[in-house]
Amino acid sequence: PGEAEAEALQHADVAALLPAPGAESDKYRRGVVGIAAGSSRYPGAAVLAVAGALRGGAGAVRYVGPAGDAVIARFPETLVSDQGPKRAGRVQAWVVGPGAGDDAQSVAEVLAQDVPVLVDADGLRLADRDLVRARTAPTLMTPHAGEAAALLGVSRESVEAARLHSVRELSERYGATVLLKGSTTLVASPGGGPVRVNATGTSWLATAGSGDVLSGLAGSLLASGLSALDAGSVAAYLHGLAGRFAADGAPVGAHDVSESIRRAWRDVM
Ligand code: AMP
Ligand code: MG
Repeated sequence: PGEAEAEALQHADVAALLPAPGAESDKYRRGVVGIAAGSSRYPGAAVLAVAGALRGGAGAVRYVGPAGDAVIARFPETLVSDQGPKRAGRVQAWVVGPGAGDDAQSVAEVLAQDVPVLVDADGLRLADRDLVRARTAPTLMTPHAGEAAALLGVSRESVEAARLHSVRELSERYGATVLLKGSTTLVASPGGGPVRVNATGTSWLATAGSGDVLSGLAGSLLASGLSALDAGSVAAYLHGLAGRFAADGAPVGAHDVSESIRRAWRDVM
């Protein structure tokens, strides 16, 4: 990509964007991130999204869905409810979709709320395009190439062959910020402007659950008040760095990556 079309964040840019609590902060002012994810088939996706969200700066993580017991067992600080997103109480930004199976209702309930929403994984398939387009609060979609191809109705190969075009096209079609995952990550917002490129990652991140950690992290940054473009690109930056620290040349699991986000954060500061 040419210089005018794409830009990469540097350590100092990320440091300036990272949320930090002030003396007057309380957990609600820091932001509550809601995670609507997981299913009886994929409870781990909920746990990993929460793991990412707990390291993203929000003051509280609220989980809604069928994997509450698994989430609480691993992360007792999570606020858990099985009432669905509509009745969840105060949330400043939502993450919907990781491991969600066919829970179309949760996706619709989240998209109907006037707060920033990150849509990932199964949520991408279940999200109605007109509903997304009608939203006034920011939407951040986080497909990998296969998911982007399905949304565009093209082959995965054609997305891989034209990643910059694909991320821009999706962003315009949905009127949403789109983060296209892969060995490098591209983040585009509708209406033009340079695409953000991130290359801090490592191919060890190509592992199950890795994207769920990214979703939670980016959602937490959204709840902290970052724009969709900043939340997506800062999350990709930290997630890539965390992957490098966690892997250090050897295989990693996604939960290892989540545990290295704090080290990546400190490295950037
Ligand atoms: P997902 O496919 O949803 O699990 O997301 C995978 C995550 O790992 C994304 O953040 C990707 O950008 C990252 N990732 C996957 N493959 C690679 C790779 N070869 N090099 C760097 N990062 C990768
Ligand atoms: Mg994924």
